[in-house]
Amino acid sequence: MAISTPTCSRCTKNRAVMVRAHSGEAVCKACFLKEIEDKVRRTMSRYKMVDSCDKLTFALSGGKDSTVLVRVIAKVHENLLREQVKKGNTPVAITIDEGIANYRDESLRIARDTCAATGIDQILFSFKQEFGMALDDMIKATSNNTFIERIGSKHAGGQLKNAFKVITKPCSICGVLRRRVLNDIAAGLHATKIATGHNLNDEAETFLINLFKGDINRMGRAASILFEEEAAPFVKKIKPLQDLLQQDVVLYLYHAGGDFQETPCPYAGDNVMRGEAQGILYGLEGGHPGTIFNIKKFMDTVYPLLSKPVSSGQLSTCEKCGAPKSKDLDECMACYYIEAICGKDYTSVMRDFIARHGS
Ligand code: SF4
Ligand code: ZN
Repeated sequence: MAISTPTCSRCTKNRAVMVRAHSGEAVCKACFLKEIEDKVRRTMSRYKMVDSCDKLTFALSGGKDSTVLVRVIAKVHENLLREQVKKGNTPVAITIDEGIANYRDESLRIARDTCAATGIDQILFSFKQEFGMALDDMIKATSNNTFIERIGSKHAGGQLKNAFKVITKPCSICGVLRRRVLNDIAAGLHATKIATGHNLNDEAETFLINLFKGDINRMGRAASILFEEEAAPFVKKIKPLQDLLQQDVVLYLYHAGGDFQETPCPYAGDNVMRGEAQGILYGLEGGHPGTIFNIKKFMDTVYPLLSKPVSSGQLSTCEKCGAPKSKDLDECMACYYIEAICGKDYTSVMRDFIARHGS
């Protein structure tokens, strides 16, 4: 017996390409693409994310999320981006090549193609070129006995020695350096906003991780990104995809004809708790469709109550670069990594890079 394909419940004309598990709604390709673009437009408008006076930067890795981010914003805000260009604030995508073998090359190509397709300018920062070491080399260096002895004795009895295992994990080094490089390039370009590709699943996972760790400060920090202005030297982050399910991000690329990378980062398993939070969410969503939207609804209710600027009592300033650092550390983690692992001065590297690429 032939199974008939349902008709789209929205336009009632086209053949549906999917049936929503949580609502039972059948949706065709055209209505799906429009739904995603409208959702991003609504999210951006609700949080007043950009206006024509902004200088916008995109964190574009070439992964599925950042590719959809750039493609959708270039489409739904074409006129607004054109106005920014007229005011001398040309939007720029920042792509960071950490240097991860058998992984990064494909996403770098996709990031280049995305910029070519959307007409967005791109700046590429390579760890290998600027810091003198790719992330792969940094990880090898930090697991070398000589490095462990040298750093271990330097920080004997100190906080860094106790935290040594955590700070030399691939995702710790990569995450700290990527966040700082992204921010510092954006600040060097006088950008007012950094758009990142975090989707609804990422946000719900982060919420669960902070909940499981009982870390109310980190939860407050995640909330303040949505509601507070950033204080210098940090550039305000916006998350236009925060209301999109991860599966919709992939489906958008598939139906819009965009390329995306399927190979995961070889170090992804390093972030154990995030992997576990992902598993919990998948399990809950599979058994109880719509759970993730309920978590988001809860976040939307409690985040405004938690949002507050980080109290200056928790932070002090890194003498080398001027960025905030933990009171317990001698310097910020970016300065620490680049000096201890690569033997370079983070501030000088970034100053030289901005001088070559800044506007
Ligand atoms: Fe970097 Fe870890 Fe993400 Fe890989 S999984 S890109 S190492 S933060
Ligand atoms: Zn520093």
